Amino acid sequence: MAESYGLHVRRNGTACCPFHDDRHPRMKVDKNYHCFACGVGGDAIDYTARMYELYEEFQRIYDEAASRDVDKGKVEDKMRNRGRGR
Ligand SMILES: [Zn+2]
Repeated sequence: MAESYGLHVRRNGTACCPFHDDRHPRMKVDKNYHCFACGVGGDAIDYTARMYELYEEFQRIYDEAASRDVDKGKVEDKMRNRGRGR
């Protein structure tokens, strides 16, 4: 089941959370997923939808930044902040 998440899941069922800047694997993945650091969670379908949403938003922010000549670091900060509090 965990393969459908496309994450490197460790033997104890945890993985690095792709929704925030995770340095330690704090996301628990089994039939559902839940990140103890930023609080995201749901099932595999929800995960896929969320990844797609994140990708789309990243593209949008990135394009916006490129057009305004904003540096890449700021975009990445923005993406990290977005992952918090959800
Ligand atoms: Zn997280």
